[in-house]
Amino acid sequence: MSESKTFCGYCKQIDYKVCYPTYDIFGNNYQICQCNSCKAYFLSPRPNDEMLAKAYSADYYGESKEKFEGIFEKVIDYFRNKRAYRLSRLINNNASILDIGCGNGKFLKKLLKYGKYQLNGIELEGNSAKRALQISEINLKIGVLEEKDFAPNSLDAVTMFQVFEHLTEPKKTIDLIQNILKKEGILIMSFPNIASFQAKIFKGKWLHLDPPRHLFYFNPIDLVNLMKAQGFIHIKSSYSSIEQNPYGMIQSILNVFCKKREVLFELMKGNKYYAKEYSVFSILMQKIFFYLSFPLFIITNLMAAIFKKGATVEMVFKKS
Ligand SMILES: [Zn+2]
Repeated sequence: MSESKTFCGYCKQIDYKVCYPTYDIFGNNYQICQCNSCKAYFLSPRPNDEMLAKAYSADYYGESKEKFEGIFEKVIDYFRNKRAYRLSRLINNNASILDIGCGNGKFLKKLLKYGKYQLNGIELEGNSAKRALQISEINLKIGVLEEKDFAPNSLDAVTMFQVFEHLTEPKKTIDLIQNILKKEGILIMSFPNIASFQAKIFKGKWLHLDPPRHLFYFNPIDLVNLMKAQGFIHIKSSYSSIEQNPYGMIQSILNVFCKKREVLFELMKGNKYYAKEYSVFSILMQKIFFYLSFPLFIITNLMAAIFKKGATVEMVFKKS
């Protein structure tokens, strides 16, 4: 755990307020703080490199071939396809695309169903990157985005799906993206909505806080202002996600009743060790609750989206 003085990791100011406590899957305690200057929310204390390495170890990606197992991988594939279609509507043929945090590369590959594109991906070292390497159409960099990776004004679109909140230097990353995008280039990013109904109801037990992996959280309205200051125009936002939001509700409810957080989620990712103190009966009940309540929480997801309070948001920006 870092001993250094608390400051906002986004704008580096030390003027902040403490919002509520939270805890991670390893039993460490944190506080969710909000910067009074830039309005970003951040996890405090900031997890150190050792903690992050542990959180991103093989368990995060699952022991099995895919991050999620069986039926869940098929469902995720369906949503990947929808994301690819949405992006294809915003770009021209032959567009050059970069997906930051491209995972196994399947989202990029799906794009080829909708047009001829030049595909670039960046992913941290690990099993997902190894899978992405096997897709020959992707120009993959293993690591993080750096200034030397792309020429200025060279890309038509950059995507970051559920990645922004993981970044150690999000402001710097946005500046890098601004530099490498062509004028009027598209940036799509999705992330947890800290102003959502779920965040307000569950606070420290909300699934999408996901400490220590998530370091930052944003109110989408505040992010529009931050992005404007960094050279982006807000195009549109979508607050409904059947992929992310009903599950956020279900796991957050389970977190209220379980001593450990994300027991079912970790199990679905193939992390069997984490749930081993829970009985077969307990796990079965959690799974039954998941399947029975999912349709209800699809409806609440749609309702929350009307009020722009959905648990996650997908925002589209254009370089100004
Ligand atoms: Zn700040």
